[in-house]
Amino acid sequence: MNECIFCKIINGEISSKTVYEDEFVIGFEDINPMAPVHILVIPKYHLSSTESVDSQNSFYISKVFEAIPKISKIKNLDRGYRVVTNTGEDSGQTVKHIHFHILGGKTLDLKMC
Ligand code: 5GP
Ligand code: ZN
Repeated sequence: MNECIFCKIINGEISSKTVYEDEFVIGFEDINPMAPVHILVIPKYHLSSTESVDSQNSFYISKVFEAIPKISKIKNLDRGYRVVTNTGEDSGQTVKHIHFHILGGKTLDLKMC
């Protein structure tokens, strides 16, 4: 996926502030944070959204969710946080590489939509 900006972050063509990385997953600071802590967690495998997840690739999603509690500890989110993923036009998804927002560092707005 040559034109995907998150694939470019994975291969180092675009720099990012990495907070966590392993063989399957990278977590980095969102460039336009919407909360005091705003991390994006992505698989190192191009999937465009939750609509592309299936039994052949869900391993990568499980690795994302294994990384999330590690990132919450790195970022001291002991009071809690929200994990959000946008899919498609109605959600406002702008980057077509599946990603999970970790939002925290304050009491979050209870209005979710
Ligand atoms: P979406 O709206 O697709 O759910 O979220 C995409 C997120 O990616 C946005 O919060 C946006 O700020 C972030 N983003 C877009 N381009 C870049 C980039 O080049 N670097 C980083 N760190 N974040 C980006
Ligand atoms: Zn990609």
